[in-house]
Amino acid sequence: MPAYTYVIVGGGMTADAAAQAIREADPAGSIGVIAAEPHPPYDRPPLSKALWKGEPEEKIWRKTAATGAELHLGRRIGGLDLAAHQATDDQGTKYGFRKLLLATGGAPRRLPLETDQIIYFRTLEDYRRLRALAGTSVRFGVIGGGFIGSEVAAALRLQGRDVTMLVPEAGLGARVFPADLSRFLVDYYRQKGVTMRTGEGMAGLDRRAGSALVRTTTGGELVADVLVAGLGIVPAVELAEQAGVGVDNGVVVDRFCRTSHPDVYAAGDVANFANPALGTRLRVEHEDNANTMGRTAGLNMAGRATAYDHLPFFYSDLFELGYEAVGDLDSRLETVADWKEPFREGVVYYLKAGRVRGVLLWNTWGQVEHARALIAEPGPFTPQALKGRLPA
Ligand SMILES: Cc1cc2nc3c(=O)[nH]c(=O)nc-3n(C[C@H](O)[C@H](O)[C@H](O)COP(=O)(O)OP(=O)(O)OC[C@H]3O[C@@H](n4cnc5c(N)ncnc54)[C@H](O)[C@@H]3O)c2cc1C
Repeated sequence: MPAYTYVIVGGGMTADAAAQAIREADPAGSIGVIAAEPHPPYDRPPLSKALWKGEPEEKIWRKTAATGAELHLGRRIGGLDLAAHQATDDQGTKYGFRKLLLATGGAPRRLPLETDQIIYFRTLEDYRRLRALAGTSVRFGVIGGGFIGSEVAAALRLQGRDVTMLVPEAGLGARVFPADLSRFLVDYYRQKGVTMRTGEGMAGLDRRAGSALVRTTTGGELVADVLVAGLGIVPAVELAEQAGVGVDNGVVVDRFCRTSHPDVYAAGDVANFANPALGTRLRVEHEDNANTMGRTAGLNMAGRATAYDHLPFFYSDLFELGYEAVGDLDSRLETVADWKEPFREGVVYYLKAGRVRGVLLWNTWGQVEHARALIAEPGPFTPQALKGRLPA
């Protein structure tokens, strides 16, 4: 039985960040990484952006093996015995550990039809499949107007493909952006040649003559050769649940990324943590959180006591538009927009009871730290006081 000082379950960016930090804090402890995908850890964000714009695949790899960690790829941990400090994979191999990290991320929400015409865009394999299909003149349907749907539709259009988006809300990114910006994005995508069907969700799904047929909530139909589903992810909490570790919208951790079991940590997309700046618990599905929380968990597993008080930022690209954002971007909050050029460049503030809870930096760069500082301020802020507060 392989036995390690540290076992990391999962092979994503969180796993890599944790392995790097463990090695920094403990030069001698052995590390085992058990990862379900056949690849070593890599950056996911380029899968829907840079790789479509010419960045080579070699650029995405993390350098996890340089930490001396042993990588067990294509292996899925199916059971944990915390009393025995053992994890068992799908081939029956047991791994002993002193400290364990759950860096299992999340799995895409699935549609109610089993067919390989649907791509759930999460992994390098998904990218490779879609990329190959994008070289043929098939019709693409994209279900969902969130981050993944919007980025993949843009990526496919950049290859000149026929793309239809089915978006149940009135606009793109409707849960995040104020309504006027969200509607602007629909027109912007139309100008870029994407067929936009908003206010139309999926009601049913069938096959028709080799194509996928989506019946929509307005009684319409969408026929596509390939469907990309961007319906969000479900945190991969099964192991924690099976082992009796506390779960509530993700694996619940304390300030030090420790779960309800003292030798088990969790970080990244799967972890639910308290954020002091927002005064609330969060589960964040973004890169900065994966990197920073993974690192913090790794340091703490190796004996440090580093609190994870970080307010993560996130970012996305939509054709030529791009943004960075910090905090709670819930479009139901009161928003104050400070545009330098409407919908092209500016800052949107999200307020709750006069306090800034989130900041959207739209085509506005280098302001993330200032935005964090503003969120930490007690306020209250009036809309006038916020205008010009962060320079665009
Ligand atoms: C296409 C795409 C584009 C993105 N773009 C952006 C962006 O622009 N900006 C941004 O901030 N964020 C972006 N993100 C989000 C970001 O990539 C995620 O937040 C990050 O990947 C989370 O890392 P993670 O390691 O916690 O989880 P994951 O990336 O989900 O990795 C978890 C890994 O663990 C493996 N695993 C799960 N269960 C087991 C098990 N039982 N045994 C072994 N292995 C297991 C999984 O197979 C997976 O490889 C994007 C995500 C995707 C998919």
